[in-house]
Amino acid sequence: MLRRIASLAVNCKTENVAKFELKMSRRLNARRIEGVDKNIWVEFTQLAADYKAVNLGQGFPDFSPPNYLQEAFCKALTGGCSMHQYTRAFGHPPLVKILAKFFGMIVGRQVDAMEDILVTVGAYQALFCTFQALVDEGDEVIIIEPFFDCYQPMVMMAGGKAVYVPLRPRAEGKLLSSEDWVLSTEELASKFSQHTKAIVINTPNNPLGKVYKREELQVIADLCIKHDVVCISDEVYEWLTYDGAEHVKIASLPGMWERTVTIGSAGKSFSATGWKVGWAIGSDHILKHLKTVHQNSVYHCATAAQEAVAQGFQREYEQFGTPESYFQQLPDRLHHKRRKLATCLESVGLQPILPEGGYFMIADISSIKVDLNDPNTQNEPHDYRFVKWLIKEKGLATIPVSAFFSPEHREDFQNYIRFCFVKEDSTLNAAEDILRKWSDGK
Ligand code: PMP
Ligand code: GLN
Repeated sequence: MLRRIASLAVNCKTENVAKFELKMSRRLNARRIEGVDKNIWVEFTQLAADYKAVNLGQGFPDFSPPNYLQEAFCKALTGGCSMHQYTRAFGHPPLVKILAKFFGMIVGRQVDAMEDILVTVGAYQALFCTFQALVDEGDEVIIIEPFFDCYQPMVMMAGGKAVYVPLRPRAEGKLLSSEDWVLSTEELASKFSQHTKAIVINTPNNPLGKVYKREELQVIADLCIKHDVVCISDEVYEWLTYDGAEHVKIASLPGMWERTVTIGSAGKSFSATGWKVGWAIGSDHILKHLKTVHQNSVYHCATAAQEAVAQGFQREYEQFGTPESYFQQLPDRLHHKRRKLATCLESVGLQPILPEGGYFMIADISSIKVDLNDPNTQNEPHDYRFVKWLIKEKGLATIPVSAFFSPEHREDFQNYIRFCFVKEDSTLNAAEDILRKWSDGK
């Protein structure tokens, strides 16, 4: 009896404490974080782990970075005291020097290591610094849909307004390639206004895999120049293109270096997403503002990881364009995985859209009829409910594609899910096994 009374008292207290905490929490939060508390990666990565699902969801390789890079990290860790202490705030000198040399070669111009580069905690922080540094209250930022989900909350947190323009399927009927998804020049032009501060592009695109052609980039560049707008170009999958698709840097087009921030990621370039080394590259007159945000927030990134990435780029510089280059080997390896996944999806009746780049593939689920009767997910978009069902009932994790659309257009894109194929063949085989058994009704 006494124990029951004690337990009731605890429950009662817990309820009161919970109420108090909720009230406090509502009063405490800054307005800039209202409406951005949900995050697909947090939600779906946890769900995949809880159900021990075969994970083709979150975008990370389930294999190690190249040996030479791992060795470079180990060497850095045993390389003496300086590797364990702070380094230069805006980027470890060996890293910014080789990034300047490497990207100078790609864009065909002199890049100043100390002025034109900022090393960040992954591409995420480069994006955050960019929005915080450039976007003011009331500024508009054009975002092309589908888009990597963090652009919208980052624009909002900076006080800006996201203005969306969708890539649309070129024609009715079967969509076989990301190439078929295009921007309407008129529609894009109509989004530019006197309030437009920036446009965000992502090539190769996550989740669609679209690789923008030079002509498409030229249309964007012309509008940026005409309206004096900054281009934020997220190119984290720059080395991953297939079937002859060519990655073009918008910063290399005439008149664009001066108004472009190019964002990259060592995590994506070297299959080391956990290292969280990224960068922003652009003209000093823009980069200096990003540095202001960086020095007053993160200040500096892990020294040993930067040292190892510097060694990685040094090697890539020496091997560039040869079969020894990891930037050539990785897309070759992924080319096969991409075909394998597409064939598997087609064989079970899911219509994939073949990506020209990146490491994701989206597939149409509209022809799949399953009973999504989980009352807990009743108010969620169809693709969210489908993905949760697939994780819980079949043990396969993917990502719902409507998460990559604005609230305005989300409803029209509830029939696609995203698969990640930067995985060992054994993982892809396990996924294939699940899909086949399901389609055979087992
Ligand atoms: N941009 C895009 C398009 C991405 O897919 C990701 C996820 N890797 C990022 C930026 C963030 O990259 P990082 O892991 O280097 O922070
Ligand atoms: N960029 C990766 C993806 O799209 C991971 C993003 C994340 O974990 N936040 O899957």
